[in-house]
Amino acid sequence: MKKLVLDSVGVPPTFKFIDIDIPKISDDEILIKVKAVGLCYHDLLISEGVLRRGVKDELVLGHEFSGEVVEIGESISDLEINDKVVCTLTSSCGNCILCATGQEYNCQNAEGFGHGRDGGLSEYIALKRNNIVRLPNSFDIIGSSLIACPMAVSLKALKDVSSVEKGEDVVIFGAGGGLGIHAAQIANALGANVIAFTSSSEKFEKINEFVEQIFLLEDYLEPSEIVFSLTENKGADVVFNPIGASFFENSLNCISNKGRMILLGQIDSSLASINVAEILFREISILGSVGANVSHINSVINMISKKVINPVVDIVPVQNMPDAITLLRSNSVAGRIVLTF
Ligand SMILES: [Zn+2]
Ligand SMILES: [Zn+2]
Repeated sequence: MKKLVLDSVGVPPTFKFIDIDIPKISDDEILIKVKAVGLCYHDLLISEGVLRRGVKDELVLGHEFSGEVVEIGESISDLEINDKVVCTLTSSCGNCILCATGQEYNCQNAEGFGHGRDGGLSEYIALKRNNIVRLPNSFDIIGSSLIACPMAVSLKALKDVSSVEKGEDVVIFGAGGGLGIHAAQIANALGANVIAFTSSSEKFEKINEFVEQIFLLEDYLEPSEIVFSLTENKGADVVFNPIGASFFENSLNCISNKGRMILLGQIDSSLASINVAEILFREISILGSVGANVSHINSVINMISKKVINPVVDIVPVQNMPDAITLLRSNSVAGRIVLTF
């Protein structure tokens, strides 16, 4: 079988296919034939050498992947050959107190797929039972690669961390990106009134298929003026900021008194300048969120089954990885680039 290895880190990075034997599984493992792998900004940061800490040598990228079961370890009885599955984001152990209490993303024994250990850009991968979640047979296997990240990641951030309630006004910045386009749908499904912004005119129409209130960010436009005019001068209850410091002030300006800003995604370490008094006197909460647990993955599966949210993909064959990296870097694709085998 072939796996795609990150050969040299840089701009642009280089990759090479390596031929290896198909992994032999142990009693508690499942062999998955990988079908689709979402290309996350995290993968770009590793490829270009921006993210280095804890990154494995000769890494196979990809923490967003789906596939089909082709072999099942003897101790596993709740899966069948050809079942469709999606992978969790890390190799959580399934045995520690964090795993036992539904916080497996924080498992101390785990490594991130496509980071500390090899990820999904491989024809086959052997995984523990607790690192895969079974999908309904009717699911599209390519779109399903996005169920854990970015979909469950967005759900956790909006529902659990930001506590978005029905009827609240939610601003989504970066609405054309992999996180944003799914977060906008999820906020909508949670009953929020979504106000989305993108800086990309190319992505506008695609986003508009999923979000009614979408605005193009132009230099002369102050997003908070739009938000306040659409919320009877209240401001947004929640602002989803997957961009970071460069949108911190814009985000703060859009928030209502007692509102929340949720930061997530591959935000860099740039500094933001804030008026601390504004946070205090307006009782604003600044929140952060990473990862997602199996419960979030199952909630996303449920929402896709009910057709209230949909994965948004742009398919690129895995052989064209360099093109996919260029596309991701150019920030020109609406939704997520998904590599297929
Ligand atoms: Zn991701
Ligand atoms: Zn654990």
